[in-house]
Amino acid sequence: MSQKFKPETLCVQAGWTPKKGEPRVLPIYQSTTFKYDTSEQMARLFDLEDSGYFYTRLQNPTNDAVAAKIAALEGGVAAMLTSSGQAANFYAIFNICQAGDHFISSSAIYGGTFNLFSVTLKKLGIDVTFISPEATEEEIEAAIKPNTKALFGETVSNPSLEVLDIEKFARVAHRNGMPLIIDNTFPTPINCRPFEWGADIVVHSTTKYMDGHATSVGGVIVDSGNFDWDANAEKYPGLCTPDESYHGLTYTKAFGKLAFITKATAQLMRDLGSIQSPQNAFLLNLGLETLHLRMPRHCENALKVAQFLQNEPRVAWVNYCDLPGNKYYDLAKKYMPNGSCGVISFGLKGGREDSIKFMDSLKVVAIVTHVADARTCVLHPASHTHRQLSDEQLMEAGVRPDLIRLSVGIENVDDIIDDIKQALDA
Ligand SMILES: *Cc1c(COP(=O)(O)O)cnc(C)c1O
Repeated sequence: MSQKFKPETLCVQAGWTPKKGEPRVLPIYQSTTFKYDTSEQMARLFDLEDSGYFYTRLQNPTNDAVAAKIAALEGGVAAMLTSSGQAANFYAIFNICQAGDHFISSSAIYGGTFNLFSVTLKKLGIDVTFISPEATEEEIEAAIKPNTKALFGETVSNPSLEVLDIEKFARVAHRNGMPLIIDNTFPTPINCRPFEWGADIVVHSTTKYMDGHATSVGGVIVDSGNFDWDANAEKYPGLCTPDESYHGLTYTKAFGKLAFITKATAQLMRDLGSIQSPQNAFLLNLGLETLHLRMPRHCENALKVAQFLQNEPRVAWVNYCDLPGNKYYDLAKKYMPNGSCGVISFGLKGGREDSIKFMDSLKVVAIVTHVADARTCVLHPASHTHRQLSDEQLMEAGVRPDLIRLSVGIENVDDIIDDIKQALDA
């Protein structure tokens, strides 16, 4: 479905366009394999000479319909679903970096991504330099080496809620002949479309708002089609020189703007797997149909809760980029004029002990290791995800010991605020 339609229409209808007599609703193609009439037809698929389905480790029609919907929402040319957000981030980097290469990442990123970049990719010989999202263009440039292949950042970081100046990062990336990869999980394309600000590749953990109901772990990589790999061919031999595993085919020559996603599918999915199950893709699609209705409500509720917390004497501090006076307010308004997301963080005056007592007293709001779904939830990193760290180490990791991460859902906001009130009283 063409991108001339507005986001609301794309959420509901893009991706799956049934022909005469076909199901109105996207079917789940729960099949590992696909039938052909001749061995010649099958051989052409294996040589990438024809496009088509042959084995669900590489591609599945349900997945591709959902990926096409997300590509349309982001304004990209192609997308690929992955089994998790972690897999999406791994493939986005690994598709253009190999042993001996280097990339630069904002330090304000999700903990799992930080670990993937700093520990696991290092074991594969891919080196990363972390820089502050607030680094100047000169400072970012100073971190670039001859073997640097990409810049990476999160639009709104999980859990520190820092807003990335996408245009600044895109300028530095393009001046130095490399793509900018943006993890757009928290705003979703309803609130921000990074391609419009110069990003080249967008990744998501679809586990969060896109699914929106906390049913399915998943991820997606979307390509804008804008980055000119061939103009920087010496840096990207995997895309711009022949692939011996496909009889010497060159992705950029054979697939043009689809080169990045085709290589990720034909090489990385083939060799490493990590495709999303068609069943999960179906559930993700149901989530996407209402994404445009849910995101404004998440933002509206989160702003009201943040304002309540700001005026509450027992609360020491509140961090929400849509709150006037927040350090990132101006950037948030520039990139996400309709609101950022439903995630806020705050601290209680009592500190670590009181935070635990407060959370245990909540009734509507649940303690879960998740963010960004319909149900309001909290997490106290110092007691949960980062519990092995001392207060000092927590501060070094950028997580205050009293930090409570609150993911505001789409319930009635008065019930959420009343629950927080009674827990503060307790
Ligand atoms: C959750 C998350 C991830 C990891 O995604 P999974 O689906 O849990 O693998 C990556 N980036 C961000 C910003 C996230 O919030």
